Amino acid sequence: MSGITDTMEKDGKYIAHTYGRFRTELVSGKGALLKDSRGKEYIDLGSGIAVNIFGMCDEKWQEAVTAQIGRLQHTSNLYYTKPCADLAELLCLKTGMKKVFFGNSGAEANECAIKAARLYSYEKYGEGRHTVITLRNSFHGRTITTLSATGQDSFHTKFGPFTEGFVYCEPDNTEELERLVRENQCCAVMFEIIQGEGGIHVLDKDFVKAIERIANEKDILMITDEVQTGNGRTGKLYSYMHYGIKPDIVTTAKGIGGGLPIGVTMLGDKLEDVFTPGSHGSTFGGNPAACAGAYSILSRIDDRLLSEVREKSEYIFRELEGSKGVVSVSGMGLMIGIKTDRPAPDIIKEAMERGVLVLSAKDRVRLLPPLTIKNEELAKAVQILKEVIANEASA
Ligand SMILES: *Cc1c(COP(=O)(O)O)cnc(C)c1O
Repeated sequence: MSGITDTMEKDGKYIAHTYGRFRTELVSGKGALLKDSRGKEYIDLGSGIAVNIFGMCDEKWQEAVTAQIGRLQHTSNLYYTKPCADLAELLCLKTGMKKVFFGNSGAEANECAIKAARLYSYEKYGEGRHTVITLRNSFHGRTITTLSATGQDSFHTKFGPFTEGFVYCEPDNTEELERLVRENQCCAVMFEIIQGEGGIHVLDKDFVKAIERIANEKDILMITDEVQTGNGRTGKLYSYMHYGIKPDIVTTAKGIGGGLPIGVTMLGDKLEDVFTPGSHGSTFGGNPAACAGAYSILSRIDDRLLSEVREKSEYIFRELEGSKGVVSVSGMGLMIGIKTDRPAPDIIKEAMERGVLVLSAKDRVRLLPPLTIKNEELAKAVQILKEVIANEASA
């Protein structure tokens, strides 16, 4: 038995080879449990990369989506629909932001943020004040512009010419930030509070406060990319809330859709009226089914769930810190990076063989479990992971 299924063969033949997939065909799941085509079960500590925050096939989310699909699945943005208005209201009530633009992905949410920032600056200061400062080691998406925004040189080859107007600051280096602001005509600073793809690096509180101070002094917009950190992932609704700052623009995607594609760009006081009809758009943006599902998800990210996230986080840190083979543990809430003695890819592969799905971020093992994972499931998965990291055979 080679383990190669018909699906894998077909996929290899017909799907563009942009992904290095694991040799596993997933067929079903419930909550934090997944099953593959051979009937093997897994405990999921990846949530489809921070997407399924209520796990697989959450019933309330399913009901919300299917009920909506039975009424209207899409209308275009030429007309009003209730789910997107309800979702936008809930987002604004929960964050204090003033307006919402809906797209379909994290990259699209960030594109909108960059356009909003440049438009704000253009209208107020005229042409040329368009530079966006982003951080080295960041990740903001795969479109040509969000690749430019991504502060990693490895993303800036082969697809050029790239969008101009981005400069990069070392995370936690306030002096460099001040220099970049002096040397460029800047309209915005865009950053992840916890760099996700960049290896689960949590930004320094002083640095974030310095961004806020400089932004306020110079009317430079603060954009937090909460595509991965958002929607309860870090133990607060959005990760900027840990730092007591008030961003001008917040982007999110991944977890808010509960598994359907949606991108969200939230605009604060200064940007409330920056867009006018025709200045931006998206055919699928605000899709009623995606929004009905997202409403079901967002309305259930309450204080109780957030405190459970923090408790589960403490449990994981307690178990892993100082455990054999663990060099260090970083992150917040249920967004956790583990630096290990052994190479992360070996650990991911062996954990998978033992029925636990984990991810990588740079040289770290990355955990992004469903926020609702049961304590027993989490305990079992963490135990297995500890054994794999310690390179100890299973009992
Ligand atoms: C995943 C991610 C993106 C890109 O989201 P897509 O939905 O894949 O376009 C952007 N920013 C951050 C921080 C992410 O983690």
